[in-house]
Amino acid sequence: MSRVVIVGAGHAAAEAISSLRKKGYEGEIWLIGDEPLLPYQRPPLSKKYLLGEVSLQQLYIKGPDTYDAAGVVQMLGRTVHAVNRQTKQLALDGDETVSYDKLILATGTRARTLPVEGSDLPQIMYLRTKQDADSIKMALRTGTRLLIVGGGYIGLEIAASAIKQGAAVTVIEAMDRVLQRVTSPVVSEFYQSVHHQEGVEIRLSATLHKFASDDSGNWAVLQSGDTIGFDAAVVGIGVIPNVELAEQAGLPCENGIIVDEFCKTADPDIYAVGDCSNHPSLIYDRRLRLESVPNAMGQARTAAASICGEQEPYDEVPWFWSDQYDVKLQTVGLCQGYDELVVRGDQSKRKFAVFYLQAGRLIATDAINSPAEFMVSKKLVAARAHPDPEQLANPDVALKTLL
Ligand SMILES: Cc1cc2nc3c(=O)[nH]c(=O)nc-3n(C[C@H](O)[C@H](O)[C@H](O)COP(=O)(O)OP(=O)(O)OC[C@H]3O[C@@H](n4cnc5c(N)ncnc54)[C@H](O)[C@@H]3O)c2cc1C
Repeated sequence: MSRVVIVGAGHAAAEAISSLRKKGYEGEIWLIGDEPLLPYQRPPLSKKYLLGEVSLQQLYIKGPDTYDAAGVVQMLGRTVHAVNRQTKQLALDGDETVSYDKLILATGTRARTLPVEGSDLPQIMYLRTKQDADSIKMALRTGTRLLIVGGGYIGLEIAASAIKQGAAVTVIEAMDRVLQRVTSPVVSEFYQSVHHQEGVEIRLSATLHKFASDDSGNWAVLQSGDTIGFDAAVVGIGVIPNVELAEQAGLPCENGIIVDEFCKTADPDIYAVGDCSNHPSLIYDRRLRLESVPNAMGQARTAAASICGEQEPYDEVPWFWSDQYDVKLQTVGLCQGYDELVVRGDQSKRKFAVFYLQAGRLIATDAINSPAEFMVSKKLVAARAHPDPEQLANPDVALKTLL
């Protein structure tokens, strides 16, 4: 009987398992993951789980019965150290080996760490896993002085959750605006103002020099010489793709494991999906490594289809979301390289959309509490549409008429 082995038990793995079975794959499926848990959702870790509004049971993507019914051999809490492509075997901790016919690498990413003095203090945390979220939760109490290093989505979501729990939150961001890597100044300024209104202090152009501590407490020293005292700190400065297994196996990697449009690596029996993979985007005509649940799930479906003999190129429009306070952001596409920006709606009501155009083509939209704009934009971006900017801006023009 043939065997598919999936390394990494996250979002992509869960979807690959259900897709393989849905598509009629009858062979063995093995799931090997270094965390001791069945695949669970990471997005709530900075949101509802941190707020204590969802339990571990609610984090699981599927319950244990689903994996049992699919006949999945589960090896959780186990790490794969090496892939031998000649013998088609994986080397695990404890000197165990597992053979495969097809291998799916779904190893995700890990938090980028801060290479500064004092970053090994126990009060300094990262957020990637449920265990990390539990540590942050433990540290959050009314009055806790929480320092967040990095004004990206994860840092800002943690800030929103922490302030709701009565913490005193300061975010330091090295750039001159938050979310600089992913959005326009309009949206960055909107978030800065929302966080300010909610009581979070955001310090921009603030680069961390080191952490220090003594009997009186802990503090961060900025390059400017300013100091910020804290009880707990969370560093959210991005992630690093887990490509070491692929590299060791001699597979090409560059900002992720290089795959083709079917999520296949240079080895026809090895696929890479989700945050760890770097794929050719047909929509943007360049390579992308995305960090989002929809991408992990879409790529998993593509790899499962390919294993089942159906070659369906991965060509989904990237999309993301972020929840902070009462503000739901839904982003379609990637705005880098836009040359025109159109705003529709009312920022003061926390309900508006920003459309990004490049040479007249809609390449991305940030929809804030605007689900209709999000839905229509998904179709417009996929269609490589060139909508009229004046109509986009005009709230009296129903967006669906632009389709
Ligand atoms: C706090 C937080 C909030 C987020 N919020 C959002 C959001 O709002 N919207 C959104 O779209 N995305 C969000 N994301 C990103 C999203 O969670 C990821 O895009 C998604 O988890 C990617 O799935 P994956 O299966 O590729 O990898 P992962 O879910 O990271 O799973 C990979 C697994 O592989 C394991 N692994 C790695 N190497 C090995 C090995 N050698 N042996 C065994 N196991 C190994 C890892 O430990 C991990 O368990 C968030 C992420 C975090 C951390």
